[in-house]
Amino acid sequence: MKASQLYAPTLRESPAEAELISHKLMFRAGLIRKAAGGLYSYLPLGWRVIKKISQIIREEMDAEGGQEIMMPIVQPSEIWQESGRWQVYGDEMMRMRDRHGREFCLGPTHEEMITSLVRAELRSYKQLPQLIYQIQNKYRDEIRPRFGLMRSREFIMKDLYSFDKDESGLDESYKKMFDAYTRIFTRCGLEFRPVEADSGAIGGSNSHEFTVLAQSGESSIAFCTNCDFAASDEKAELKIIIAPAEDEKPIEKVETPDAHTIELVKNFLQVPIEKTIKAVAFQDDDGKLILAFVRGDHEANEIKILNASGAMHLHMAEESAIVAAGGSPGFMSPIGLKDGTIVVVDQTVMEMHNAVAGANEKNFHFINVNPKRDFKNVIVADIRKVQAGDPCPHCGHELKMTRGIEVGQVFKLGTKYSKAMNATFLDENGKAKFFQMGCYGIGVGRTMAAAIEQNSDEHGIIFPRNIAPFEVVVCPINSKDQAQLEFAEKIYEELKNSGIDALLDDRPERAGVKFKDCDLIGYPMRITISPKSLETNSIEVKIRKSGEISELPRDNYLDQVKKILETL
Ligand SMILES: [Zn+2]
Repeated sequence: MKASQLYAPTLRESPAEAELISHKLMFRAGLIRKAAGGLYSYLPLGWRVIKKISQIIREEMDAEGGQEIMMPIVQPSEIWQESGRWQVYGDEMMRMRDRHGREFCLGPTHEEMITSLVRAELRSYKQLPQLIYQIQNKYRDEIRPRFGLMRSREFIMKDLYSFDKDESGLDESYKKMFDAYTRIFTRCGLEFRPVEADSGAIGGSNSHEFTVLAQSGESSIAFCTNCDFAASDEKAELKIIIAPAEDEKPIEKVETPDAHTIELVKNFLQVPIEKTIKAVAFQDDDGKLILAFVRGDHEANEIKILNASGAMHLHMAEESAIVAAGGSPGFMSPIGLKDGTIVVVDQTVMEMHNAVAGANEKNFHFINVNPKRDFKNVIVADIRKVQAGDPCPHCGHELKMTRGIEVGQVFKLGTKYSKAMNATFLDENGKAKFFQMGCYGIGVGRTMAAAIEQNSDEHGIIFPRNIAPFEVVVCPINSKDQAQLEFAEKIYEELKNSGIDALLDDRPERAGVKFKDCDLIGYPMRITISPKSLETNSIEVKIRKSGEISELPRDNYLDQVKKILETL
């Protein structure tokens, strides 16, 4: 491809609404253009990236026995009525009627469609397992589409569905997909983690999110530096921290004037923060007070508190509710509250000795609180948020925190959909059984966006080689100089002939303009042809990622270029 013919309009400015780096850079580098809120056109460079990611996905799906099909985007409401999700999906589902008044939707996902397809066709255990996938547009009517391709209304997804005869078959299919996903994101050149996840609204019991590590990510992740443990901060289960043994002293009430925060209490009483206990107060939907207690330096995890307390929702507590339960805001503890107050105490708090906690009285705290001795009628659970430095629940090594972008998810659905839609096969004994299903998604556009979030600098995108729109750009400094252009054309032809995806920047622009565009679009390697190249019969190679520049002899540069590309 020659850049003079390429439809790749680059821009200095990014759209005002763009918040994320990937959104800004995809727009500026001419990869995408907005059609309407959450709807985008992919221009040639963007589409090349999408096609490369799709191809990697395809190869790895096929390697595990996946079979590609294509199902309709437009889906009849009946199958969604069967699964019970026609209502559940609410306003996120894009719905429409045909000329006869029959209801349809634009598929947000395809569990119903695939289940209704195979239930009529797969009849025997002998036909199982089946791994069936497609790469296709999906639709979700986001209330506020934003972040470019991260949260759009139309998006490209690979969705694979597995059908097995029993749970151990499902385990195997799940493992196949887990391994395939690991290979896919490795080949895409991304730093990622499979994160243990909740299965959420889609159902099922077992799930991992494949998360690309990036500071702009929407989810907070704890990961181990020693083993492969990784979990979202909401999900990470934590071990109890046992405080060193101490002789228990008698509890004592002391005056702590105006010390209504942990910082103030610890400074006033001159105790380490690990010796303090703090409270968070909530009310459930009926207004019932739920008090949660964690160590002073820990943070309460609302999801865990929700699960431990049995409440449906948590709302921040009104001061009046706290007072009514016998408490005093800023001076709370489980000691001396009215009966019936729900008190959840973190498991680590129960292992503390001679600690400081509120006295449920303004300007007073207890010292020498020993929770096992002094807390009555409390629910003990793991209710704190993971934080950096916590011990790994698998190996005990130190955990680190990072942020990430979810690009893929693997789910075990079990029989959720096969039961709801009565999809059965005949087993070895001729008995009808429900399929064991799994579903496995990858956001293709999201993967492109996440790759950019993870790989960019102030000059633009730094594409990993395997998903770059072109691997190498050949750039004559002055395209109007016939000798330079011819030299560059030869190099370009040689690269192409040896299987390298190359672009020739033959535009009659100033060198500075061309270099800026190369950096903005993020080609992994630039080969510059200058007057010096002609003089010394050499080429100049610049690596986008490191900025490293080297000169290679014209005669045997190809092997070296290939070797360098292997590392990008
Ligand atoms: Zn570990």
